[in-house]
Amino acid sequence: MAATIIDGKARAAALRQDVAAGVLRFREATGRVPGLAVVLVGEDPASSVYVRSKARATGEAGMLGFEHRLPADTDTATLLALVERLNADPRVDGILVQLPLPPQCDAQAVIEAIDPDKDVDGFHPVNAGRLATGLPGFVPCTPYGCLLLLRDLHPTLSGMEAVVIGRSNIVGKPMAALLTAESCTVTVAHSRTRDLAGHVRRADIVVAAVGIPGLVRGDWVKPGASVIDVGINRIAKEDGGTGLVGDVAFDETRQVAGAITPVPGGVGPMTIACLLRNTLVSAGRRDGVETGL
Ligand code: NAP
Repeated sequence: MAATIIDGKARAAALRQDVAAGVLRFREATGRVPGLAVVLVGEDPASSVYVRSKARATGEAGMLGFEHRLPADTDTATLLALVERLNADPRVDGILVQLPLPPQCDAQAVIEAIDPDKDVDGFHPVNAGRLATGLPGFVPCTPYGCLLLLRDLHPTLSGMEAVVIGRSNIVGKPMAALLTAESCTVTVAHSRTRDLAGHVRRADIVVAAVGIPGLVRGDWVKPGASVIDVGINRIAKEDGGTGLVGDVAFDETRQVAGAITPVPGGVGPMTIACLLRNTLVSAGRRDGVETGL
């Protein structure tokens, strides 16, 4: 039987509605609205598109957006000074510095300068440590979105075999920590893994976050498994144009899996929805208001 195609767009729209309703409740309780500051350095086209869609989504959720566009030659000191101002600004509940930064900027120093309690991207080492030790903090938006999709599919994830392919700080590692916290048995695979196909074949849950088009083949996947494809790869098409594909060979895998996310329209839309969710959660924590998210 062919897999259920997971509708990330619809799930993200539902989450954004919940966030918008939470923003209204927060506003009634506090008289203010949550604020998200987004910092973009330079003119990278993909980053500009992300920042524009984040700004639109912030407004649609009823939040305040503060956009800071800085020239491509901005140095680390200037960026650190801006982050300090945003840390101190009471209207700002969340700070996001769009990565990658130009090479002259020390990205790690900038991430570490963000107040961990405004770090809605969840990249600060304090938040990575909180996630690893089971303390409340901020979880990176993409893996958190993947977890929400998996929770929709399974009443409990406890005891399931999960394989996470990729060990980046942004996706793979936090995904593995989240699944461990759900009591999955987690294998983290990476570029040095021997017999990747063999690991994937055992998995009830496969999360692919690699950046290689179609790496995971249909005959690697256990029948009925849930497959979450984080990869976003631009490829050339036969008609001379380009298209987006994931890290999973979709047409093959949908014949075998129980459920699978498409690319686009799967994990991608969840990322921004989770960013809005984290911003509302931050505002709630800072003002001592229960947001229900
Ligand atoms: P990354 O930092 O480049 O990490 C890629 C990971 O894949 C690394 O851990 C690497 O292993 C591993 N890897 C490389 N080749 C492999 C192979 N042949 N077999 C197994 N593992 C292999 O990438 P990322 O930031 O995590 O992103 C991964 C993908 O997700 C990209 O396509 C990115 O565009 C996409 N993404 C999507 C969203 C979204 O919103 N949907 C958000 C973030 C990222 P080593 O550690 O050994 O090098």
